[in-house]
Amino acid sequence: MGAPTGLPPEPFFCGPGLDRADALRSDESALEELAARPDARELQWRDGLPILSDEGRLTWGEASRPELFLGLDGSSPRYSAVQPVIPDAPSAFGAMAMLHSGEAPLFAAALSLSRWHGRHRFCANCGHLTEPVRGGWSRRCPACAAEHFPRVDPVVIMLAEYDGRLLLGRQPQYPAGRFSALAGFVEVGESLEAAVARELHEEAGISVRNVRYVASQPWPFPSSLMIGCHAHADSDALTIDTNELDDARWFSRSDIAAALAGATDASFLPPPKAAIARTLLERWLAA
Ligand SMILES: [Zn+2]
Repeated sequence: MGAPTGLPPEPFFCGPGLDRADALRSDESALEELAARPDARELQWRDGLPILSDEGRLTWGEASRPELFLGLDGSSPRYSAVQPVIPDAPSAFGAMAMLHSGEAPLFAAALSLSRWHGRHRFCANCGHLTEPVRGGWSRRCPACAAEHFPRVDPVVIMLAEYDGRLLLGRQPQYPAGRFSALAGFVEVGESLEAAVARELHEEAGISVRNVRYVASQPWPFPSSLMIGCHAHADSDALTIDTNELDDARWFSRSDIAAALAGATDASFLPPPKAAIARTLLERWLAA
């Protein structure tokens, strides 16, 4: 599935991935049959991460522990075993540099789902040990019958625009020179529009209007959904929250074009290619 004509490509981790075959998840006998099929395959892991081939592809072996039904690749069932939580596991973030973009949606699903099982073994309602059901797409408590679903944590990430310039900020952990879109978790009882306005007000002291959705991206570290937005600022006067940001500035269209083109005299280092912040900048520039 490509981006709409004329637009830059979809964000990393987006795309069709596997057929998730949701209808089969609640059919116990169908699941048993699938798991026993000779063409069933299981994702290979090492140190808490899917093993990648030299080409950045996921690797598959015999389905010896078909615990999580990831879906169908054509007609071939694909599984993962639940992975134990490894305290000092290498950063999944680092694996992204190697990962083939066509494999990224399945990598994201398998990583988030497997880690969720590893970290959510006990019932949040009564504390009893729960068990995976629905092919691993939820866990049920045998003591109180509560059903628990994998977490998805919504995060708004946004470009604020004023007079043809965009607001970008620097978090302390960024490499030297990098600026990116501001972002924050959506809170309970909050719309996306309200979350965008609140985060921009908290971090940069600006008021915004006309918040609109641009694109989204799963971000499996461990279970975020990045929701990319654009908003118009009422003023360019900034009050920066220095607990959250090192700096925030307005950048012109030519600043942003130079940074995305990798110009040696660019005024800032743009977000990496896998980040939806980059997609937001590319789409803004192309619009
Ligand atoms: Zn329970």
